Amino acid sequence: MDSPYPIDTGFDGHVHTYLCNHARGTMEEYVIAAINKGLHSLCFLEHLELGITYHQKSWLNEEDFAIYFKEGARLKEVYKDQLTILLGVEAGYNPEMHAQFSNVLKAHPWDRIGLSYHFYRIRDKHFNLLSRKPDSLAILIEQGPNLILEAYFASLLDALQIMERCDVVCHLDACLRHTPEGRLSEKNDIQIDTILDIMQQKQIALEVNTSGFALRKTPFPEATILNRAMKRGIVLVPGSDAHDPQQVGRYFGQLDDYLQTAFNLQM
Ligand SMILES: [Zn+2]
Ligand SMILES: [Zn+2]
Repeated sequence: MDSPYPIDTGFDGHVHTYLCNHARGTMEEYVIAAINKGLHSLCFLEHLELGITYHQKSWLNEEDFAIYFKEGARLKEVYKDQLTILLGVEAGYNPEMHAQFSNVLKAHPWDRIGLSYHFYRIRDKHFNLLSRKPDSLAILIEQGPNLILEAYFASLLDALQIMERCDVVCHLDACLRHTPEGRLSEKNDIQIDTILDIMQQKQIALEVNTSGFALRKTPFPEATILNRAMKRGIVLVPGSDAHDPQQVGRYFGQLDDYLQTAFNLQM
């Protein structure tokens, strides 16, 4: 049976490249992988972070983005008959960098702006909430998962309120990625509902991030949140969050069934 809530799985809305320093593969390798998988569209959604103190740069700086746009323009031209290529940004929000954040987002001709939140500051250092590195995990758990989860959703909410343009919210519940002990509290659920309300008002899409299938057998976010998004008529877009060309379009074949189940949940 067709899903009552169709999702365009010919489009992968979220891939990374070697430019972010923690993925492999050139932009062209991702384009070729997308064509070989039979996709009609591919969106690069490269990492942008501002004012983060971290042991390695795992995002693009201005020089990297210059290469990104130049190579992206070349690929759009070369492959125009085979694939629609979008050059987007996964804008990582830092609550302490409001003004700079808005300025950088305005300064480039992004095809798509995705919002995410990765880095949480404790004293003078940032910790990646979505990292699986044991040391950063230990410190985050020591802070208390509730505090961290509340800060995560509060930051997304803050970002959505100040952003002049946001097209898609990335991997909404990925804060649970490596903290299986962490559960969403009632307060988190209220925060998520507020986020979804704003997305509905501003017509911002929700990403169904299939990297979750590898880690916990469901996408980010999982079914109960997807159900609440669907009830609000929020558009869902698939994203593989590929950090290797082989991961383009990963698990997309499971999305129709998963969304059907999410749609049918009695809540
Ligand atoms: Zn990444
Ligand atoms: Zn990503």
